[in-house]
Amino acid sequence: MLETTKGIVIREVAVGEKDKLLTVLTHDLGVITVSAKGIRSVKNPNISSAQLFCYSNFVLYKKGDFYWLRESDLIESFYGLRSDIEKYALAAYICSIAEDFACVEEDTPIVERLVLNTLYSIANELAERKLIKASFEMRVAAVFGFMPDLFECSSCMGELNGRTVFDVMNGGVMCEKCRQRSAAAVYLIRDDSPDSYESLEPVIRFEITSDVLAALRYVVTAKGERLFSFKLEESSLDLFSEICEKYLLHHLGRGFATLDFYKSMIE
Ligand SMILES: [Zn+2]
Repeated sequence: MLETTKGIVIREVAVGEKDKLLTVLTHDLGVITVSAKGIRSVKNPNISSAQLFCYSNFVLYKKGDFYWLRESDLIESFYGLRSDIEKYALAAYICSIAEDFACVEEDTPIVERLVLNTLYSIANELAERKLIKASFEMRVAAVFGFMPDLFECSSCMGELNGRTVFDVMNGGVMCEKCRQRSAAAVYLIRDDSPDSYESLEPVIRFEITSDVLAALRYVVTAKGERLFSFKLEESSLDLFSEICEKYLLHHLGRGFATLDFYKSMIE
């Protein structure tokens, strides 16, 4: 049976001397694995449209749960990602998050658009890489059900004025009063039953400024194509990016080798 779909190659693994196994985030079929026979031969007509980060039209032969590449026709190569190792490393991290998440078919068009927009922005340097990475992390977390509550205090439901605290584990923001109260409660548990306190996960909280709160609100609500169209000054951007990365990794419950690689490139 033949199937046609658009998709982004989010991972590729060389097999034997001439073949590749591609992981493709498709528009219609979710994330699929495609066997591309003979793709590494220079004479193969699909060589430039079925490589990592390419967005292409694909004609696939399907049998059971397996797909084989018949034809591919390049839509966008994101060439800029291959000319710079830091861009390449960040794009690989973005793609590995997409691979982890996009197994629910009805969500794939949303993830596909988000990934395309992000790869395009990295390739063409539409914003600082740190801002792109953090915004993508928070947005993708929100898209997949970990939407933080950023518009009222998660404890008393009151308005957020003055000093506020972002709570990574609970996915919300707390007002100063509630933060003090909850810090006191943690100390009580510690005094009364040190053993049970030991087994609790450390609380991950960040004191945030109003511009970081505004940035967090922006990235979970902005239109997709405007996602990276904001600015933060250096110290706020550092805090924003630390929060977004911790938030995503905490709620996924895992790290990424591609993230470690990206960090080793920029340090
Ligand atoms: Zn409160």
